[in-house]
Amino acid sequence: MIAYFPAAYPDELLYSQLARYYTKSGYMAYSFAAEELFLSKTARPDMDFINCYTPAAVQAITRNISMEAVIEKHTMFPCYGRFLPRERRQKAFQSLVSMLGNYYNLLSIPQSKNGKVRCLCYCPACAAHDREQCGEAYWHRIHQIIGIHVCPVHRCYLMDSGVMISGKATPFLKTAEEMIPQSESCVFADHEIEIRVAAYMVEVFQADVDMDSCVTVGDFLHSKMANTQYRSVRGEQRNIALFHADFTEYYRNLSQNWFTELWQIQKVLTNDRVNFYEICLMAIFLGVTTDEMVHMELPEKTQQQLFDEAIYRLHEKGVKYPAIAKTLSAPYVIVKAIGERRYGTYHKPTKVSLKSGAKPQNWNHIDENTLPLVKEAISQLQGDGTTRPKKITTFTVEKILHLSSKKISLYLPKCLAEIHRHEESQEQYWAREVAWAAHQVEDTSDDLTWRKVRDLTNMRRRDFEACLPYISDYADGELAEQILHLL
Ligand SMILES: [Zn+2]
Repeated sequence: MIAYFPAAYPDELLYSQLARYYTKSGYMAYSFAAEELFLSKTARPDMDFINCYTPAAVQAITRNISMEAVIEKHTMFPCYGRFLPRERRQKAFQSLVSMLGNYYNLLSIPQSKNGKVRCLCYCPACAAHDREQCGEAYWHRIHQIIGIHVCPVHRCYLMDSGVMISGKATPFLKTAEEMIPQSESCVFADHEIEIRVAAYMVEVFQADVDMDSCVTVGDFLHSKMANTQYRSVRGEQRNIALFHADFTEYYRNLSQNWFTELWQIQKVLTNDRVNFYEICLMAIFLGVTTDEMVHMELPEKTQQQLFDEAIYRLHEKGVKYPAIAKTLSAPYVIVKAIGERRYGTYHKPTKVSLKSGAKPQNWNHIDENTLPLVKEAISQLQGDGTTRPKKITTFTVEKILHLSSKKISLYLPKCLAEIHRHEESQEQYWAREVAWAAHQVEDTSDDLTWRKVRDLTNMRRRDFEACLPYISDYADGELAEQILHLL
């Protein structure tokens, strides 16, 4: 029977609240409290999240607050769960609310940092303030966020309490009041960037978690690079090397920063790495506000769509391609190619439904109707000068149109003829690829070399030589001339 149970303080860890309950209830030994609180009395009290509690403990914890609110306001969920993909985020939250205990696999929580065991941290000034206001110190959530070293309120360095969060310490409930020295002087942070990072992270952490958002954080950060020097003019390519160089320079004075490698940044952008601290660093660098960060939205139109539309608009007004290229600071060949809709532009996903068993007399009609889609698929495969070309075959076209295999060759003769007209020999296709690669290099205004073309295409020297006779079909005069003299 739990008669007295203290209410939680703002931003207090649930663990801290339980520890305060334990010391105030006058148990003879910890094991008696553990028996009262935990379904398994040998369980290690979880400091970041929750344990499987006894019905009596659940009742006490949720006396004035729902379990959902406990998870959101008194555990570290807003830090580890916030930026997970939607389904995983919801699953993790549900498993916490229902105390299923399998949330560790879903949340990917680091057990230690840099090989060191993590301990509960505190701010001496916050502790003094809490003692004055509440009569006791307590463990704050915001001081436990991995990557925060400074109290954003007092601008002083956080201290290590020695109470191990992970590791093999004997189960125990330690209050902040007993662990934090009564008077301790603060050491103030000397780098503005450390304070800015801490303040930003805390602000994002304390905002409500959007449980329904479908936007993934990698896509969101990528969209925030639009129209910066970190994306190509049309937005198709990322200049990740430049981003990495500027990013590491910006955070040069950030102490204990492990997020410094190009591949780490790349993985955040591809949604293969979901770390609260790393995401916040990228967001700060890109000038994303905390408000935008907690309500992530993707722009209605991509940079590529806006770019293409700008070309059409200007051209309709009678502006010539060289002038448009200058206005948009984009390579002339790309502007011209897009303006002439030579390669088609962005594509809405196409789906063609061909019901099997359709009456034979309908095939003619279907053939007619599918033809424009086949043409579009072909230009998609050819690439628009900025996207990498792919080889045109009946199979690849069928794949884009979601048609089952052999449908075109068996039933759609006009479509098949269209594909045959655009089929290329292997050498011709290589030439197209080389032209594409040369445009890529031109875009970055680097010197065109064989090595760069090779790196982009993975092409062997022998194959490159074999495609040279066809280069002039795919690259205009000057560029073709350059390519022919690469070796
Ligand atoms: Zn503080």
